[in-house]
Amino acid sequence: ATMPPMLAAISNAGRHGVLVKSAVVLERLADTSLVALDKTGTLTGGRPSVTHVRRLSGGDLTERDILRLAATAELGSEHPVGAAVVTAARDSGLDLPEGAAAPGFTAMPGRGVSATVQGRQIEVGDLDRLSTAGARPASLREARGFVDDIHQRGHTAVTVLDGGTPIAVLQVEDTVRPGAGDAVRRCARLTGTSPLLLTGDQPRAAQRVAAETGISDVRAGLLPEEKAEIIGDLEQRGQRVALVGDGINDAPAMATAHTGLAMGAAGSGVTVQTADAVVVRDDLNAIPTVIALARRARRLVI
Ligand code: ADP
Ligand code: MG
Repeated sequence: ATMPPMLAAISNAGRHGVLVKSAVVLERLADTSLVALDKTGTLTGGRPSVTHVRRLSGGDLTERDILRLAATAELGSEHPVGAAVVTAARDSGLDLPEGAAAPGFTAMPGRGVSATVQGRQIEVGDLDRLSTAGARPASLREARGFVDDIHQRGHTAVTVLDGGTPIAVLQVEDTVRPGAGDAVRRCARLTGTSPLLLTGDQPRAAQRVAAETGISDVRAGLLPEEKAEIIGDLEQRGQRVALVGDGINDAPAMATAHTGLAMGAAGSGVTVQTADAVVVRDDLNAIPTVIALARRARRLVI
């Protein structure tokens, strides 16, 4: 027996590494007028690494002490930046407790994490998004300088705070996925519109990734809710947005988009549930491929 075109296309999409959850999703994918991509974990490989630890002057902690505190605070984090901090600590021979999050661990989506480590209130994240009301002014100024310098270079700056005062700034670097530029071009050709980059990271880091992948429309410094608002606005203006995310901090945007696609392997359980399709192949080219497939299947149905 021959399969109906939509089912055949779902099975075909699966062979190309995209698990499409239903025929309705496939029809929606065929309507895509704009592809929006998250940066970290989507356009980038999602395995960033800590390349520099900049210790602030005045403290009595060594670089290793700081790395241990930061990594212990990040143990419960699902964010690629958190994983990078943990890996950096383990790579420099630090023994961290396996698995379990530190006491009082809280993930602040799009901001960072906080936890109690060795009796200290440790926060790790974006300096502009963490509360520094009680910070020592000199430390805050010094941290600001390091953060700006790292942003200038197009990298991600992650600040470590102890009791609300910055003690170090980590430089985190992530690389664009192989084939990402190709996937962006194919999406542009299919939809007639250049894809959009959405990110919680700072403008300079976003610009670097945009330049490397050929994206001209960039919205940076967004909180998870703001990503969802932008998608909502575009939908209101008649766009049918396919949002591609890694599932960390983009679940609200994914729920708002016409279709949400999660880059599978890294995706959290929550997003795999929110997503309409899961990209299990580690390749962004699966996105234009599945949109093209969806269109062809619809032509056969009609
Ligand atoms: P993106 O949109 O690029 O995926 P996110 O919205 O997930 O970025 O995060 C935005 C920023 O918040 C990151 O660039 C990082 O500076 C900070 N951040 C988020 N989670 C963490 C964490 N667990 N540890 C340190 N920094 C974090
Ligand atoms: Mg992300």
